Formats: sequence, structure tokens, C-alpha cells
Amino acid sequence: MQPIPFDNTFARLPDQFYTRLAPTPVTRPGLVRVNRPLAQQLGIDAQWLVSPEGVACIAGNQVPAGAEPLAAVYAGHQFGSYNPQLGDGRALLLGEVIDRQGRRFDIQLKGSGPTPYSRGGDGRSPLGPVLREYIVSEAMHALGVPTTRALAAVTTGERVMRDMALPGAVLARVAASHIRIGSFQFFAARGDQEALQALVAHCLQRHYPEQADSDNPALALLQAVIGAQAKLISRWQLLGFIHGVMNTDNMLICGETVDYGPCAFIDDFNPNKVFSSIDHGGRYAYRNQPAIAHWNLAVLAQSLLPVLAADQDRAVALAQEAVDAFPALFEAAHLQGLAAKLGLAEIGDADKPLVDELFQLMSDGNTDFTLTFRRLYDHANGPARDVGKWFELPDSFIPWLSRWRQRLERDYLAPETREQRMRRANPAVIPRNHRVEEAIRAAEDEADFSPFHTLVDRLADPFELDADDDRLLTPPTPQEVVQRTFCG
Ligand code: AMP
Ligand code: MG
Ligand code: MG
Repeated sequence: MQPIPFDNTFARLPDQFYTRLAPTPVTRPGLVRVNRPLAQQLGIDAQWLVSPEGVACIAGNQVPAGAEPLAAVYAGHQFGSYNPQLGDGRALLLGEVIDRQGRRFDIQLKGSGPTPYSRGGDGRSPLGPVLREYIVSEAMHALGVPTTRALAAVTTGERVMRDMALPGAVLARVAASHIRIGSFQFFAARGDQEALQALVAHCLQRHYPEQADSDNPALALLQAVIGAQAKLISRWQLLGFIHGVMNTDNMLICGETVDYGPCAFIDDFNPNKVFSSIDHGGRYAYRNQPAIAHWNLAVLAQSLLPVLAADQDRAVALAQEAVDAFPALFEAAHLQGLAAKLGLAEIGDADKPLVDELFQLMSDGNTDFTLTFRRLYDHANGPARDVGKWFELPDSFIPWLSRWRQRLERDYLAPETREQRMRRANPAVIPRNHRVEEAIRAAEDEADFSPFHTLVDRLADPFELDADDDRLLTPPTPQEVVQRTFCG
């Protein structure tokens, strides 16, 4: 039996979708962590994964049986400028597996060496970004956000040159697929209708099978992606998550969060917040994320024009109508999520001033995003469940709190339902930036991975409060604040 039960379909697409090549071996593979529950879900033997052979396969020193490694090609808009030639420059798709529930997943190595799409890059990844992606993607999964996942991480025993020499690493990443908006852009730019059609069919079959028999497959796919992205971005907004690099090559057709480069969660709330060192104009600031997603989806729609209808006027009308639906879909998902956070069955038009004022108070008071909402959970459900030990809302919230309480009294949710919904919507712990950085520094500087493991373990259960959560719960002190994040 193969240790990884591959069942590949992307590799069956025609040649122009990828370049086949093997990973570049590394000097000295060392295991960092294996995600046992995920391995089990995917039917991969976790014992094999931690064995020397398993580690060699993750490091790229060996190609596991059944893998068909390839670098996929794509294009994309990076910070608004079109780049006609991108692609997996430091990643390889090994193949696909089908999980216990019949769902298909990519297994990709990130940091596996140069490819024809490396554009002068080294094809490698430093350890820091690998650990960051491991921590944050797994935390997002535990928070209930659609996301790519981390199956395993290994060190390479090699140095990677950035501003300085850094230890290198490889991440084995799992995604429903890595097909991006940029994948469609690549073929649209070349006028390759056949490739577009093949990619539409592949994505529909894989991600939206209930639409696979649609009369207009391209339109069905476009609408499905727009719906999935509206939900996804609403989840980011509701958790104070800033992606940081929402280029069209970093938005997946399957609706999962991908590319945890310069991402970060907000501590003290500021809607204009930006962490990424390369986002000078604030294009990907917290408040801009829904509008950027809308823009990216318009790019997808435009790429699909050749296959939306034979008559191009008709194609444009269909595309426009689909894209125009995004703001309302986002708003509906966002309001539904806000209702859960605030303990309400739903948020109607009459409630919107209450919501707007809350965010204004948070912004004016620079209150911690996560703890503000978690404290509302306490206020609504009694003092027994208490983050009050660490955090209290400022006095400026008092009039708002009393209006919110009156609104809660008029709401029809049963107390137990409210309590459960509010808890699931308002996590106690998130991967705070200063703790992520601390874990990375310990690993980089002292080869001490225990802060990393502690963080990953604790973030698997983000909605429960532990008595000894001080370090993870509390916002950074002024000295601890991380102002900038980097792509790696
Ligand atoms: P990202 O900003 O991570 O989404 O990457 C944008 C593009 O640059 C993708 O095509 C990556 O594969 C490529 N890339 C990023 N870093 C490297 C690297 N170190 N070596 C080669 N290609 C890279
Ligand atoms: Mg990317
Ligand atoms: Mg402020």
C-alpha cells in the first residue's frame, strides 16, 4: 500500500497547465511537526510521515509512490498590476488524496526548490514563514474559517539568503485545490478558450459538484466562487484577520484562505490597519478587504468572458450581474456573523446604528478586537465565564452596553442558544502576532521549537478559556507590539 494514497486529477489536465518536475533535494532534513489528526483524515499513515522516509518525502529528497510532482502555471494582479507570468515558483503539487468523507485535497510542498516559474527567486522558504503559516492556518481551521492546512513541516539543514542568512524549511500544505483566479487569467490572456473550458469543468467537478450539470458552467462557477468568497471575507472581517496580500494569484477558486505571508490579526482595533511591510498604500488594509475581493472577482469574471457566452455583449451582461451580487452577499454573511457575535438572532436595519457605534467605540478607544467581543460574551451570559480578569471595556462603552442589553431583552434567542452561538463566534485566543513572532524567534535563534508547539496545541481550542491563558490572551505591551510583517 502507498503511504500516501494519491489519486491525481490535475495532472491529467493538458500540458499547458503545468511543468512536471521533481523537488530539489536538501542537505539534512529534520522533522519539525506532523499534523496527526489531518494525516489521519487524509488516510495518510502518520507513523510513516514521521519516519526517515516520510521526512525525506516532505523535504523533497524522495518522491513518494503515486506522486506526480508538478509546478502549476498562473498569472495575476499583484497590488493591482498585471503580471502575465507567475506560477508555482517555490512550490510543487505532489498530487491529490481523497479524505475519509470523500473530499479531494491537494498535497503541495512549499519551499521545495526552483521551478521554471521562479523568476530569479531561490525556490526556497525560510523557517519563519513556514512556522507562521503552520500556526495561523491551523488556528484559522480551528476558528472555523475555510483555509489551506499544514500537514507537516521540516527543516532543510540549509540556509536561505534574505536580508540575512536564515534557516530553511519546507511546508507540506493541504488545500481543496490550489487553483486561483490567476490560473484563469493566464489562459484568458492567451485567448485559450479550450483551456478555460477545461479548467471550468475541473473546478466545478471538484468544488461545486452540485453545479456540474449547469447549462452555463462558466456562469455557475463564477456565481459559486462569488458566494464562497463573500462568506470567506466576512469570516476574516468578523475575526479581525488581515490577509495582507490579496493579489488575484492568492485567491483560491475553492474559497479557502491561502498564502499566510504577511497576514496578522488585529489587536487594538483600527479599521485602517495594515501590517505588511510591502503594502505602502494600504491597499489591503482591514477595511478594504471586501472591496478588494469584489475587485478580484471582477477580474475572474473578465477572464471567463470568452466562455460565458458566444455573444460577448451577452457575456459582459452575465458577468456584470454576477459580480454586482457580491456586496449584498458579503453584507448578508457579515450581518449574520455579527448577529452571532452580539448574541442576536438577526441584525435588522434598525440595529445597524448599534453595530456601527460599537466599531466606532472600539476604534476611538483602541480596544482589543478579540477581547472586546469576548467580553461582550461574558456580559451577555453572566460573570461566571470571565475574561474580565484580563480585560474590561472602557467606560466609554457604558451607554452602548445598556442599549445593547435592552436590545438583547427584545431578542427571541433562548439563553442556551445565545450562549453557544456567542461562544463559537467570539474566540478567547487567536494567534497574536507578538506570540507568533516569539515562537519563530525561539526556533530560529535557539532551535527551540517548544513555544511553536505550545502555540499550535493551544490554538486548536480557541473558544475555551483556560485559567493559565495569560500569555496568549493578553494583548501585546507597547514593547511587544509587532508593527510590520514580511512575505518571506
Ligand atoms: P506570493 O507573494 O507568495 O504569493 O508569491 C508570488 C509569486 O512569487 C508566486 O508565483 C511564487 O511562487 C513566487 N515566489 C515567491 N517567493 C519565491 C521564491 N523565494 N523563489 C521563487 N519564487 C518565489
Ligand atoms: Mg501566492
Ligand atoms: Mg483608534
